[in-house]
Amino acid sequence: MTMKNELKNGDRTDFHFYGNFSSTGWASINLIFIDESLTDDNKRQILAEALAAVSKRMANKGYVKSMRDLELLSASDIATRYGGTKQYWDKLLREGKIPYKKTSSGKITTNVWVEGYLGNKEEVDKYIKAFKAARKSIINNYDQNRKSYGIVRCPYCRNKTLGYNYNRGDHINALCRSTDCNFKLDTQDDYT
Ligand SMILES: [Zn+2]
Repeated sequence: MTMKNELKNGDRTDFHFYGNFSSTGWASINLIFIDESLTDDNKRQILAEALAAVSKRMANKGYVKSMRDLELLSASDIATRYGGTKQYWDKLLREGKIPYKKTSSGKITTNVWVEGYLGNKEEVDKYIKAFKAARKSIINNYDQNRKSYGIVRCPYCRNKTLGYNYNRGDHINALCRSTDCNFKLDTQDDYT
């Protein structure tokens, strides 16, 4: 989707901007500066407007909330707020169904991510299933040829277009190159 017309000066010809986000909530921005006379300040201004346009589009579609509404939550905070046990939410975090950051006081997530899961359970379950399948075939591929990068079949679109990097510490990131697929995975180090 071209979002250039959502920028303040959408008819400018000194840069190209394409913003997009997928149904799984991944945002991407392509910004190419064409005119070499653009100053760093001009470029920063254009980048800021591009990010604002993508954020606004995502907010309109319900993918992001304003930072003012963002709250940090531990598994027991989620249990208090949304019901269920701490163990139940711990499991969902561990399975990657709710994104989190590891901190010295444990796994911390946000109300936005919890509500994102609650509102899209089926989609998230489908993603996690594909995530596990992709992780398995990447590891199998690695065991066979010992290369830290390669291409395997994408569990979402079934094309052999999922490019991956398999780094030390079992950290894997992968991205499907098929048009309109956008399947990605990025494992956390302690994923089991
Ligand atoms: Zn794909």
